[in-house]
Amino acid sequence: MTNEAPVLHGTPVVPGVGYGPVIRPAPRPQITTTTTTVPDTAREAESARFDAAVEVVADRLKSRAVHASGAAAEVLQANAVLAQDRAWRAAADGKIRSGSDAAAATIGATDQFVTIFEKIGGLQAERVTDLIDIRDRVLAELNGDPEPGIELPDVPSVLLADDLAPADTAGLDPARILGLATSLGGPTSHTAIIARQLGIPCIVATAGLDDVAAGTTVLIDGGTGRIVVDPDHDAAEAAVEQDRTDRARIGAWTGPGATSDGHPVAVLANVQDGSGARAARPTQAEGVGLFRTELCFLDRDTEPTVSEQADIYAEVFDAYQGRKVVLRTLDAGSDKPLRFAEHPQEHNPALGVRGIRVAAAAPGILERQLDAVAAAAERTGTAPWVMAPMIATVAEAAAFADRVRSRNMVPGVMVEVPSAALLADRLLEHVDFLSIGTNDLAQYTMAADRMSPELASLTDAWQPAVLALVARTAAAGVAAGKPVGVCGEAAADPLLACVLAGMGVTSLSCAASAVAAVGARLSAVTMQQCRDAAHAVSSAVDPVEARAAAARILV
Ligand code: PEP
Ligand code: MG
Repeated sequence: MTNEAPVLHGTPVVPGVGYGPVIRPAPRPQITTTTTTVPDTAREAESARFDAAVEVVADRLKSRAVHASGAAAEVLQANAVLAQDRAWRAAADGKIRSGSDAAAATIGATDQFVTIFEKIGGLQAERVTDLIDIRDRVLAELNGDPEPGIELPDVPSVLLADDLAPADTAGLDPARILGLATSLGGPTSHTAIIARQLGIPCIVATAGLDDVAAGTTVLIDGGTGRIVVDPDHDAAEAAVEQDRTDRARIGAWTGPGATSDGHPVAVLANVQDGSGARAARPTQAEGVGLFRTELCFLDRDTEPTVSEQADIYAEVFDAYQGRKVVLRTLDAGSDKPLRFAEHPQEHNPALGVRGIRVAAAAPGILERQLDAVAAAAERTGTAPWVMAPMIATVAEAAAFADRVRSRNMVPGVMVEVPSAALLADRLLEHVDFLSIGTNDLAQYTMAADRMSPELASLTDAWQPAVLALVARTAAAGVAAGKPVGVCGEAAADPLLACVLAGMGVTSLSCAASAVAAVGARLSAVTMQQCRDAAHAVSSAVDPVEARAAAARILV
């Protein structure tokens, strides 16, 4: 192994590169649970003290909203409304009426609502940070302490935090905050939304962030979700310079996906539901390359009916009327267990009953899903491409193709298991397209858990063995004259996207936030450069060498 600087990985949210020293927010106020019992006669006044503190906090948020714009203003306004939430205030007031002091009541009511929000899950769970921030502001106000927040640094810095309150994020100055990474938070959290508006490179759900001390120099790449700790200075400066050029190009890119000499390579979006598909529309994505249907049902105890499923799928088809939509059938199991898909207890779920294997374990589930997809297709007048996850044998692909064709839809399979890549030519005798899932393909090729931050360098899609299997699959597509796409994270890496195109991949599907960066990079190079880069990486010994070889050619 080469002696590389440590690299952390998270979910990329806002593309862009930042290089500088780490700062961390000041610790939040200590939350003590000691309660003073307020005598009966003083409870009215204590309740009024709580109300006054809430009003001050809400007014401050409102006035900040007035001075902000776009998403930041909306978020601040929404938080002001949350601070005045009747149910939360009533819960706190009830506690004060029973003798709690205002601070303890604020903490108790917040705990109660955090539990409720977390149970509801999804977007509501992402509001937990907002509520905790409001709690801390109210507590500071009750104690006569200064308002909690982030002190902006004199030296431009990279901000690392567990999570940020929206009010804090909204106050960030892009000139002084070069990048932002959080341990918690999702891609749709308010932190992410505001960072996107401010144009601050941002990564959320980053593993291992706590180990990076303030003052450490880091290179953060919001396009790939990577943070390099103590990077080589010259390499980091070069990355920042490249980012400047890229940003200018990304801003100017209008699509559709093609190399500079006009070879089309479709750039598509990965989505997980109707709202994700609608959110992807303003990007230049030409369609949906991966609709992860299982993500619609993670919170369900029972299988959604065919008509419920059809409604959900139709939303995505509607969002991309007349465009290409590739729907993946349920990839249940392993890291995405579905309660209704009857997984047996397994010692090693990643190698167990998951993906297409669930069709045999839970009879009828695939048939009903395909009926729902066909119904949604008919209702919306679309012709979706439908693919199965985790195909390992030619027989699985053939059986799946029959089921899809019998419903007049276009069948394909994902290439995520090395056996499928090795037999790509034989799979293509049965299906109309392949889509390479580089996340799982890397996991299974390298025998390294894709969720393990410690093994992240092994599950890097630039691993030569992974690239060799991708190249083999793409070549099978070229030989058969059938489309082969990539829909794993590799497609979101603009440099690697060019290499994939050079291998013969016909479409690249990535997170909506990465679409413009991928398209712009592709538009800056010729197909011959892409082919030369694909050839050059084929003899690299490790990901570092592969990246360097590609970068030398794709200038
Ligand atoms: C993949 O494995 O690359 C893929 C796209 O599927 P998922 O990430 O949903 O497993
Ligand atoms: Mg997969």
